[in-house]
Amino acid sequence: MEKEKSAAKILQERLVYKKKHSGLIMNEEAICESIKLSEDYKSFLDNAKTEREAVGTSINIAKSRGFTEYKKGSVLKSGDKVYFNNRGKAVIFAIIGNEPIEKGVHLAAAHIDSPRIDLKQNPLYESDEIALFKTHYYGGIKKYQWTAVPLALHGVIIKKDGTCVTVTIGEDENDPVFCISDLLPHLAAEQAKRTLSEGIKGEELNVIIGSMPFKDDEISDKVKLNILSLLNDKYGIIEADFLSAELEMVPAFKAKDIGFDRSMVGAYGHDDRVCAYTALQALLSCENVSRTAVVCLADKEESGSNGNTGLSSKYLEYFLYDIAEALGSDGRTVISASECLSADVNAAMDPTFPDVLEKRNAAYINYGVCVTKFTGVRGKAGTSDASAEFAGKIHSMLDKNGIVWQTGELGKVDMGGGGTVAAYIANLNMDVIDVGVPVLSMHSPFEIVAKSDVYMAYKAIYAFMKE
Ligand code: MN
Ligand code: MN
Repeated sequence: MEKEKSAAKILQERLVYKKKHSGLIMNEEAICESIKLSEDYKSFLDNAKTEREAVGTSINIAKSRGFTEYKKGSVLKSGDKVYFNNRGKAVIFAIIGNEPIEKGVHLAAAHIDSPRIDLKQNPLYESDEIALFKTHYYGGIKKYQWTAVPLALHGVIIKKDGTCVTVTIGEDENDPVFCISDLLPHLAAEQAKRTLSEGIKGEELNVIIGSMPFKDDEISDKVKLNILSLLNDKYGIIEADFLSAELEMVPAFKAKDIGFDRSMVGAYGHDDRVCAYTALQALLSCENVSRTAVVCLADKEESGSNGNTGLSSKYLEYFLYDIAEALGSDGRTVISASECLSADVNAAMDPTFPDVLEKRNAAYINYGVCVTKFTGVRGKAGTSDASAEFAGKIHSMLDKNGIVWQTGELGKVDMGGGGTVAAYIANLNMDVIDVGVPVLSMHSPFEIVAKSDVYMAYKAIYAFMKE
């Protein structure tokens, strides 16, 4: 016999807000689905460690599901599945809806660039008979985390004749990897006096790439020459070709389950490929939609969204103008009537560092997709701050579809902060709110998310597109 609930207990259940833990709510079927999704997500991560690879991988998946490249001026009709590739580093996917385009689109925007170590334009040098690459880090990193871990080299080199060499070294089991050295503790007394942020300085992020000399008695820098000789044999490049290259050092390890219960995924680049992946999967799951559904996977978020592949650029706006026109409307009307989920990660409560988050308003792993009304720093500087009306609409949509969700805030007031692409979308005169997956160790080489949250993010974006 169940004990009868007290009046206070009943009132409490009715009146008091309480977050829900996915693990206590999800049924067997949902748990199976979330595990299946995370398996596929892990292989996506392993194949998409850079923005270029994320574009290529996403387009390949979409093409296999009937998406074709959109060219301005092509005829569009409801049910069409199209994509627009912006310079190989950002991409937009769309399914044309059954309803008139004037009603606006349902947009999910995520970013596919992640913090990493870029090579400088003239990177190769030899010092003390070791060959190294000079680097310039990309995005907000804690530099000390990137030493003494295996790194893989990804990117492109444009040769003098205009041909493009694609480089991926360190991903295959038999590939060599690269590494940034750190000082042994025995001799680190002086280094230990530095602040943590200066523990490893930017100009100390030098990557070791070789140590054998070219056999010759005449010349200096024999190790460097040996490396150039190997690169010339393999890729046909000369040192000057580095000047027109985009080469990125990323962690060489693969995505792995974390925990005895395998409830989490550890990987490089959850921020923000976890939202890029779930947004793309949500779109692919839509056979038909009433509102036109659009997914934008943007580059350059981690360096401020500038550049022609970042969301400060006009390419998203141009795309929406083009499809509006093709469907007999105008861009301004369509954009102003559109709604957007800015899909990006938020900080999860870390039990080891609880002091930076305010626990009543922080996101927790396994408590579902995180809806973040505002980001920014200090007095909400730099945020778009979603309206109560739009927040309420999204919250109702999530409840209606049985999605576990929570709210989040990027740290205590004045603790720091950050931003997302939401502000740039809002500037187009669109309603937008941040949704995404809570992450532990964000911006580190090995970030952690909970599988149940990945699943809820997918379900949330899918429900939004099916509205
Ligand atoms: Mn992000
Ligand atoms: Mn980030």
